Amino acid sequence: MSDLHNLSVKALATLLQTKEVSAVEVATRFLARMGGNPHNAFLDIDSEVTLAQACASDAKLANGTAGPLEGVPVAHKDVFVTRDFATTAGSKILSGYRSPFDATVVQRLRTAGMVSLGKLNCDEFAMGSANENSAYGPVQNPWDTARVPGGSSGGSAAAVAAGLAPAATGTDTGGSIRQPASFCGITGIKPTYGRASRYGMIAYASSLDQAGPMARSAEDCALLLSAMCGADIDRDSTSLDMPTEDFSASLNHSLEGLRIGIPKEFFGEGLAADVRAAVDSALREYEKLGAKLVPISLPRTELSIPVYYIIAPAEASSNLSRFDGVKFGHRAKDYTDLVDMYKKTRAEGFGNEVKRRIMTGAYVLSHGYYDAYYLQAQKIRRMIADDFQNAFKECDVIAGPVAPSVAWKFGENANDPVADYLADIFTLPASLAGLPGMSVPAGFGAGGMPVGLQLIGNYFKEAQLLGAAHRLQQATDFHLRKPEGI
Ligand code: GLN
Repeated sequence: MSDLHNLSVKALATLLQTKEVSAVEVATRFLARMGGNPHNAFLDIDSEVTLAQACASDAKLANGTAGPLEGVPVAHKDVFVTRDFATTAGSKILSGYRSPFDATVVQRLRTAGMVSLGKLNCDEFAMGSANENSAYGPVQNPWDTARVPGGSSGGSAAAVAAGLAPAATGTDTGGSIRQPASFCGITGIKPTYGRASRYGMIAYASSLDQAGPMARSAEDCALLLSAMCGADIDRDSTSLDMPTEDFSASLNHSLEGLRIGIPKEFFGEGLAADVRAAVDSALREYEKLGAKLVPISLPRTELSIPVYYIIAPAEASSNLSRFDGVKFGHRAKDYTDLVDMYKKTRAEGFGNEVKRRIMTGAYVLSHGYYDAYYLQAQKIRRMIADDFQNAFKECDVIAGPVAPSVAWKFGENANDPVADYLADIFTLPASLAGLPGMSVPAGFGAGGMPVGLQLIGNYFKEAQLLGAAHRLQQATDFHLRKPEGI
């Protein structure tokens, strides 16, 4: 089988269960494709580890103890700690760090049978929208190597789009699963905050961070999400005490009568015409499938940018204080005393964007500014969540663009961090509200670059989102298109 790398998670799982291919064969094929690290998507590859996991999977397939995804490869964003691969979160400060344990999400996917292909490049500590903030170099977009793959899960999106992995994990704090999925023409879902355990996910902004799968189709995302989610209260007190759910069960539900809310704030001036055209055509498709489009309003959409860029840095400034050269990773060489060691280690280890966020975060939390910035942002965050609940009185699902434009060219925003912040406008609101959101390939825009449609659901409505995405993917083939040569 020469096209193993183009098969879905579902197809690979079936071939493995029926023993038409072995896990070692599948892993070997992907490792061969990963040779030379195309697009700079990976940060750590260790074929011995991958092949040992594949061998163990083959043994389980042979003796009847296989998990549902036994032998199917997956690659992990470098924000998840792993015992068998290095973990850096894209930062120099963690270079050479190896965790003594696996993140819950990593462990759950292995229990389901998935074989790890290694660790994926990302923006440093998941701070970014273009993967230009990785200390280990940018990731190229497989659709046009002169363009960014999106961020911060840029390695995850590029690896799936380039057929280097059938699926990947990502993390989404303010859009980092949805936006790179959109930029690379794949499917990704961020579940409701608390669905997936954050244990072993290197913390950026703990009240927002959430893990999710990235793959070609909604069907594949459903398979991974079912395996990833579940209560883990002892290790992550914000993980939800809810039974695991089979997100594949309702993929084929009819969309007849589904009310899709169209927020007018998502279709204003800043939206590029090519993105708008692709999103509009996906909405027409939904009408053909029996859904009704309902105009709604999310009046505080614009405020989500200042609110997020206060709250996320505030939490980051606290979370990142643990990287001080004592317990993990990098330590400066020449120092006079402990404080000097902290200072030099952090000055050398963190990149500019991370430093910018730590300083912003410390500022908004400082005495005298706390009330004016941090507290105010928390209040508006609640109002943003309330706006969604008002909207969900009139609709079942909300749809709009993921990002205002297609993937931009390297360097275009490099000297203007605020330009990247502004491009997060459509993904931040759902993050601040803790709602599930996904990106579904909806067509192509300028330069032949992919465009994603964003679907946002109410709390715990992942199954409904995945179902809506799946029905669109039955009617269109955007998710099956590949960059040239893949
Ligand atoms: N672009 C946003 C940021 O830089 C979101 C990143 C994320 O979701 N991890 O913070």
